Amino acid sequence: MSTKGFYITTTLPYVNAEPHIGFAMEIIRADIIVRYRKLKGQPVFFNTGTDEHGQKIYEKALASGEEVQVYVDRLAASFKDLISLLNIWPEVHFTRTTDPAHIEAAQEFWRRCDQRGYIYKKAYETKYCVGCELAKTDSELVEGRCPIHPDREVERQSEENYFFKFSALADKLHQLYEERPDFVLPDFRFNEIKSFLAGGLQDFSISRLKAKMPWGIPVPGDDDHVLYVWFDALVNYVSALGWPARRSLGGGGPASEEGEFEKWWPVVQYAGKDNLRQQAAMWQAMLMAAGLPPSRQIIINGFINAADGQKMSKSVGNTVSPVDLVTRFGTDGLRYYVARHISDFEDHDFSLEKMSEAYNAGLANGLGNLLSRVMKMAATHLESPVPPVARELPTDYEEALANFRINRATDIVWEHIARLDRQIQSTEPFKLIKTDPEAAKAIIAELVSGLALIGYMLEPIMPATAATISNLVAKNAMPATGLFARLD
Ligand SMILES: [Zn+2]
Repeated sequence: MSTKGFYITTTLPYVNAEPHIGFAMEIIRADIIVRYRKLKGQPVFFNTGTDEHGQKIYEKALASGEEVQVYVDRLAASFKDLISLLNIWPEVHFTRTTDPAHIEAAQEFWRRCDQRGYIYKKAYETKYCVGCELAKTDSELVEGRCPIHPDREVERQSEENYFFKFSALADKLHQLYEERPDFVLPDFRFNEIKSFLAGGLQDFSISRLKAKMPWGIPVPGDDDHVLYVWFDALVNYVSALGWPARRSLGGGGPASEEGEFEKWWPVVQYAGKDNLRQQAAMWQAMLMAAGLPPSRQIIINGFINAADGQKMSKSVGNTVSPVDLVTRFGTDGLRYYVARHISDFEDHDFSLEKMSEAYNAGLANGLGNLLSRVMKMAATHLESPVPPVARELPTDYEEALANFRINRATDIVWEHIARLDRQIQSTEPFKLIKTDPEAAKAIIAELVSGLALIGYMLEPIMPATAATISNLVAKNAMPATGLFARLD
């Protein structure tokens, strides 16, 4: 693996509601990739944060009766809490789009696009979905409503705005997609964005009248306008690196004279499928307009829906809180479920019943049971700890994680668990110990080594469990209680 820096980011969720399971899934996935790269010795820059401007947040804050800044501070804190709740790599960089450094970067990004001729002013009328914070064409509306937000009226907006010359960058985008066959994962999402591009690009509005919506970053040189929320928030992927200043952020990574941007760029972006166009097309065009190189890769998640396949929403009352799931299943219980049972790229219909079943099968009966059996035999029959195994990861496991196939990588770990279970069944060391103790001890030592490798493979996926396994192996001790208590 390359020793060059690896930069990965989640999207920055809007702070218009408490964190939901969809974002928890996204940050857990990014964290698994980060921990895997770290395990391989690669320097990593990991970014997440919160998107705090725009009409939707402004409306929410007004409705809550709080000052907007107080409102976004409170919600941003609840997103920051996810870092410890989900055991995310503690050095993750947390960008808030209300940070002064981000505001400066967004304005500078605008200036560069403007200087290079990609911004112009015109009057326009549009149909706008506040839920998506996107203008909608007639073909994107179903019976005059946004299909993602059918409970919201589509707003007709007419005003003089600044526009971004998206259409002028169609050829360059096309060339980018041609040159980089894995630019968007999975393939079917890449095809989707290619057909969006083939349908022709329309310039889009990148400012709002401050008189109507003051909660945004001022447009450089025009106090009547604020930046369109996407033209602000997407810039976080470069502002997180301290761009445009060549300043050092401290922390990990190779020391050098160059700025953080040069050191870490380009970025790998995790994003939801509702973000495909913004991340894979709009943002890439914005980078081109500002004279910056495109992202490295865009990884697109599916949605987590309710058990009946319906979209989760506050108003329907079928949302799931990551805090509740951690209370019930533990942090590693949730990380396990995301890693193994929520499809890497497809939608997932979530139910507590399914998650409980998966927990009991994979963790209580699977890993937990194997760990107790093996370490009980080891603690009883072996005189000293089994020497550490070579920390070498199986090739298929590595290949899966290099390609963001977290489900596959986790399945491979559970294939190793099943193999050790079969080995115990076929060799019965607990019986053999009475007739041939030396042979039985050799088998037990082999089982402990197998368990140690499982612990090593679990480091990116379930870091706390991996540490427990490695401690028990090092001390030749059995777990005081079952590692994963069975849930009824
Ligand atoms: Zn919408």
